[in-house]
Amino acid sequence: MWEKYKDIIPHIAVDSGVINTVADWVLLSGYKNVLVVCDPNTFRVAGDFVIKSLGAAGGRVAPCMFAEDEPLPNERSIGVLTAAYSPDIDLILGVGSGTINDLCTYVGAKVGCASAIVGTAPSMDGYASLGSAMLIDGVKVTPPTQCPVAIFCDVDILSAAPLLLTAAGLGDMLGKITAHADWRLAHLLVGEPMPEDIVSIVESALDKIINGAPYLPQRVPAVIKSVTEGLILSGIAMSLYGDSRPASGMEHHLAHFWEMRMLALGQAPALHGIKVGVATIIGLYLWQELGNELVGSAEQGVDFSFWSDSRANDLNESDTNEPRVSSTPKREAHTSLLIANKPKVSEIRRLYGRSSDAILQTQNPNLPISLIQDKWQEILDIAKALPSPEEIAKLLSALGAPVTPTEISISEELLRDSIVYARERKKTYTLLQLLGDLGCLEDYAGRACSYFAKNALAGVKCFVLDMDGTIYLSDKVFPFTASFLKHLEKTGKDHIFYTNNSSQNAAYYLTKLERMGIPVTPDKLMMSTHVLLEFLSDCPDIAGKRVFVSGTKALRDDFEAAGYTLADDDPDFVVLGFDMDMDYKRLSKLCDFVRSGLPYYGVHIDYNCPVESGFIPDCGSLAAAVTSSTGRTPDFFGKPSRYTLEYIIKKTGYKEEELCFVGDRLYTDIAIASGTKSRSVLVLSGETKQSDLAASKFIPDLIVRDLNELESFIVRS
Ligand SMILES: [Mg+2]
Ligand SMILES: [Zn+2]
Repeated sequence: MWEKYKDIIPHIAVDSGVINTVADWVLLSGYKNVLVVCDPNTFRVAGDFVIKSLGAAGGRVAPCMFAEDEPLPNERSIGVLTAAYSPDIDLILGVGSGTINDLCTYVGAKVGCASAIVGTAPSMDGYASLGSAMLIDGVKVTPPTQCPVAIFCDVDILSAAPLLLTAAGLGDMLGKITAHADWRLAHLLVGEPMPEDIVSIVESALDKIINGAPYLPQRVPAVIKSVTEGLILSGIAMSLYGDSRPASGMEHHLAHFWEMRMLALGQAPALHGIKVGVATIIGLYLWQELGNELVGSAEQGVDFSFWSDSRANDLNESDTNEPRVSSTPKREAHTSLLIANKPKVSEIRRLYGRSSDAILQTQNPNLPISLIQDKWQEILDIAKALPSPEEIAKLLSALGAPVTPTEISISEELLRDSIVYARERKKTYTLLQLLGDLGCLEDYAGRACSYFAKNALAGVKCFVLDMDGTIYLSDKVFPFTASFLKHLEKTGKDHIFYTNNSSQNAAYYLTKLERMGIPVTPDKLMMSTHVLLEFLSDCPDIAGKRVFVSGTKALRDDFEAAGYTLADDDPDFVVLGFDMDMDYKRLSKLCDFVRSGLPYYGVHIDYNCPVESGFIPDCGSLAAAVTSSTGRTPDFFGKPSRYTLEYIIKKTGYKEEELCFVGDRLYTDIAIASGTKSRSVLVLSGETKQSDLAASKFIPDLIVRDLNELESFIVRS
């Protein structure tokens, strides 16, 4: 099947066992000095074998191994690779996937040396592509490079790759669905060429992959093979077309926009194909919305004169920073189609930073509305031919891959910004351009945000409610708490209360809740102290022993009641809680015990406790003082520790994915769900403000003003 692409890539081998043919091919092709490039992982998986077999066959091998497990395609890596290269080397042979391949083709093109790749994961479509995705000066660029002279993909090796890498490859391939819808749109509206032979290279590979995708979780080699072939063919299609159009559209624009913004904010973006998969689901949702609207409009008869009207006003308005929702009655009937579509200069400056000048200089004019009007039916046909976002999400979640923006740390704000502004980066015509031309881009961005918000709580059976800042503030119960709890009952959802605060014990909180009129039974109240006590009860060498507790009387009582002997001298282990009676003598003693190497446990990590006048230092701050003196940090137990999640699963019997943490603090209430299957909801009724989210590593699945607003998202299922 690869014979006809010989001019682009002389040798392609995708099959079981092709790793055994690498050395022979290299030497028979006349290469004598080979630079083999890998990282510690790919060395283990294939690099070691390639180096040894090349040596055994009589080739000269110079290995170049990156020190880090996941090298970045940046100046540092280019330096490492360039330093390992010498002019007598005639082939740079990469062993790896995305980054290693990009680095080898990039440096190969720079120094004028042929490059080849031994793939280790079916994770991206760059194997055969003419461009390398590089990160230069912190900015994502895709300089044209060279195609490799050979691609070896041993299906046995690729089948053993982590499923997340395979999911990334599947995501990158599924992205061709929206990419080709965009291509058809551009063909229709701006006459972009669409040669059938190139289109079908990608589309027939894609059909095969979609049919096989349900078998990917079992790593069926034939399906892994077809994904790999599809990824390579996509690269070939780009090379044949001379542009990325056959493999990339609005889904790639969204994915690149997220990557750029996240890197600028110092966050780690997900794998390329994982981002593309999520972006594809968003694209399909937008197409579905447009399709529904087009059908509706066609039935009612679309009033195009009206659209032209609003656009004429658009062009006349000098201040592009004002939102233009019109207030005339006639327009209100069509609000969704009339919100401003011209990019706001200040927003482009905010989002694109250094690159914004270049972007502002190359603004594309909008398409004449009459042109879109003429093609109405054909646009509807493109929309109707597409799968639903749910169908595609199902294929990806079967592999354990993220399918929503929050799962890959894309906040609602970033999602909205990307839908409205990602189109500024590339001047190719896509669905985003069309929505902009129709004047409904911001409206659709809002719809996409609420689509994902509604899905955020699907499958949740038990809500783990934080207490202070969530159901009450200090001593005042929120007026909506009682009705929220009734709503949970009505919708068949369970709940527990959980607090990190170890200055009081369960009896105190039960009384407090009862006094506030909140119905509660002891089994529905859990706290950080319980989690630590449960953990200790499973440690045979500690059970019943002498403990030094730095904490309030309530905490000390809890340890005594659990059968431990409170000891001020010669303890077997040390516990630090929210010690509101701490004095210098106790602090020194605590530090002595910790310094002597005794087992040391922190009840919870909270740095501050909110009180009416502001904050008072909490357990985490006291622990920080001990760390300064002793160099030791305790094992922490409350939220966000894994101990707490496991404790709740054990005590309630719910599965990880059936739990939803609700709370007002990012680094405890939201962090505990991060990287797990549990969901999280941030309430803004406590210590966190909306503006704190931009700098947060932890992104909630949903953000609400308070429990009152959360009610509307919880429905019987
Ligand atoms: Mg709280
Ligand atoms: Zn891609």
